[in-house]
Amino acid sequence: MGNKYLEWIGTGSGLNFTLGNTSFLIKGGERILLVDCGYTVPLELMKSGQLKDITDVILTHTHADHIGGIEGFAYMNYFAFKKREDQRPNLYIATEKFAQRLWNNSLKGGLEKIQDEENIPQNVTLDTYFKIHIGKQIDILGLPTATLFPASHVQGMENYGVSFDNGVWYSGDSLDLPKNNSKLIFQDCQFYETIADVHVSYNRLKQELSPDVKAKTYLVHLGGGWEQKNPKADGFAGFVMPKQRFDLESL
Ligand SMILES: [Zn+2]
Repeated sequence: MGNKYLEWIGTGSGLNFTLGNTSFLIKGGERILLVDCGYTVPLELMKSGQLKDITDVILTHTHADHIGGIEGFAYMNYFAFKKREDQRPNLYIATEKFAQRLWNNSLKGGLEKIQDEENIPQNVTLDTYFKIHIGKQIDILGLPTATLFPASHVQGMENYGVSFDNGVWYSGDSLDLPKNNSKLIFQDCQFYETIADVHVSYNRLKQELSPDVKAKTYLVHLGGGWEQKNPKADGFAGFVMPKQRFDLESL
């Protein structure tokens, strides 16, 4: 394993409490990037001793298995680690509209009201806890450049996947098929099909991906039924398990 690697925290679907919420870290030097922070993520990061070291966070969409850990993450950084001003973690959000929805609809109830050290009540905002960066291109010193690209998920919901300029591609939650020219693909999936799907199905990926794309596609966001499948026999690179690491230096 080289110095630069991707490490999965959880690889489960929204309610898979065994594998945890789908989320990963990219490490390569002083900065550590967390992609998505669902409700199981802060506990896993505390258990592995990594929560304090995370400098940068990308969020793909506002479902709780992707952002439900942000309140705990923010409070730990603010109150326990005392990170203020330049010490605040960077938070990357694709658009201003997304940032407003994240704060007003998901986070404000828990994070808005705090008491300062003199016990004076205060109304604060998301940028009390984070350095907020709005935009789809994300440059972090020492790490591959990330781009947030729109992906189909729940109709009407702003939602993104993440591609990195070193060839790593993460679908986020998506109904779309992966991009062929990526080197290392992490694709969400589900193990059933309905007319109202919000994730691409395992069977569609199995049938529609070319053998060469399938061979570099690892499946994440694993829900009910994953243990009955044999992804390698179906031509995929495999399922990803929590704590699994991928070397980024040999890409
Ligand atoms: Zn989702």
